[in-house]
Amino acid sequence: MNKNSSNIMALAPNTSNKRETVCIFGTGDFGRALGHKMIQSGYSVVYGSRSTQISNLIPKDAEVLSHAEAAQKAAIIIIAIQRQHYNFLTPLAEILHGKVLVDISNNLKLNQYPESNAEYLAQLLPGTKVVKAFNTVSAWALQSGTLDASRQVFVCGDDVEAKQMVMNIVHALGLTPLDKGSLLAAQEIENYPLQLFPSWRFPMFLSLGLTAFFFFYCLALDVIYTYIYENNNFSFFIAITIPNRVCPVMALILLALVYLPGIFAAIIQLYRGTKYRRFPDWLDKWMLCRKQLGLIALAFAFLHVVFTLVTPIRAFVSWRTSKGIISQALNNKTEPLNNTNAWLSDSYLALGILGFFLFVLLGITSLPSVSNNVNWREFRFVQSKLGYLALIFCTAHTLVYGGKWFLSPSAYKWYLPNIYMLSLIVPCAVLVLKFVLIFPCVDKPLTRIRQGWERNPKYSE
Ligand code: NAP
Repeated sequence: MNKNSSNIMALAPNTSNKRETVCIFGTGDFGRALGHKMIQSGYSVVYGSRSTQISNLIPKDAEVLSHAEAAQKAAIIIIAIQRQHYNFLTPLAEILHGKVLVDISNNLKLNQYPESNAEYLAQLLPGTKVVKAFNTVSAWALQSGTLDASRQVFVCGDDVEAKQMVMNIVHALGLTPLDKGSLLAAQEIENYPLQLFPSWRFPMFLSLGLTAFFFFYCLALDVIYTYIYENNNFSFFIAITIPNRVCPVMALILLALVYLPGIFAAIIQLYRGTKYRRFPDWLDKWMLCRKQLGLIALAFAFLHVVFTLVTPIRAFVSWRTSKGIISQALNNKTEPLNNTNAWLSDSYLALGILGFFLFVLLGITSLPSVSNNVNWREFRFVQSKLGYLALIFCTAHTLVYGGKWFLSPSAYKWYLPNIYMLSLIVPCAVLVLKFVLIFPCVDKPLTRIRQGWERNPKYSE
């Protein structure tokens, strides 16, 4: 049934800025959002629905017909319907014969059915050309236009021409199609939106494990030890003091762990004399989650800044300050300014501020909307050169702050090193190894290997 006369225009053959007519089966959330976006991009949209009643929710300029009528108006039909209702399509087999059917469906569970929804659709309607697409885009993102971080649309299908037609639509909507091959890839594409932070799993577990370890390490040395041997109840350290020790330590170690796999990769390439052999699986996986490790490190650095900013208003700190002032007043003696301490304190603050600034810069450039706007060289400059500079500043910040305890026997409670010493192991190792790698006698062969040179070529000319 026609909505209004403008719909006749909407379904008219291609004029100068009109694209072809596309049919969408289903007037649910996704069907409406996609239809709206398609009309904005110049397509004529005709809906196939169980009810041809006009509703305010249907995009203006779209037509709503029965499934059979709508299918006859377009060569491409987008099936915006849950898989469990697909059998209503079987009686339409004749009308759908030779048409391109776009399966956009998702499931509720990983590997819910033995075959993918797209393959199931192809089995139901053998005379059609089924293409899987759009399932990783949400109706909300389509409607609100917040697609900046998720412009990629995975597309797969057995018919190359049909796949190209769908990829043209994806392009026209301002999205980026990514050809994943034949319909066999549909299962993987359908599982994709159901995965729970796959690339965040390892960084999350690692961060949780290390945070727990350092928290209990500080608890043992700063609260339990002082309670047992000094009879001081510092249990309130749990709220701010200990988190403010753990956060910078975590930020520094995780930042170093972002750069450590690159160092391992360089050593492996130098040892093998080629870049054409795969890295071990653990290294590949580690390299792939560097961005996530860096973002978690940034979160810890941010928390450290906040915890530090509230330090002056803490009751314990005001008590300690006034105790110092009263003791000077009672002794009638003003302690002279210790210039070395003043230098150390200002230097570690300055190093921390610079390190944090670079840290934030690294975080911002890793956002897709920013990284898409810088070229590869600029991205590498920020992530590698400025990243190492951030690591140097943050390591120096910790060294200047914690260095004074290295030689003090009182810092070795229960013969254990101070947390700051532990936190410096990985960053210092990374910086020393990086320093070795930039020596010309090491850097030159490494650069040649990365340009394709091989020590023992497999295929000699
Ligand atoms: P929905 O709001 O529930 O809409 C589904 C539509 O299917 C209904 O509006 C109805 O349209 C039609 N339908 C329902 N029962 C039917 C039946 N027995 N026979 C024939 N048609 C029937 O669902 P949705 O959120 O739009 O999702 C539709 C598909 O898109 C699903 O496969 C989903 O996995 C996929 N998807 C959704 C999103 C999202 O963000 N929502 C994202 C990616 C993929 P009519 O009343 O017009 O017939």
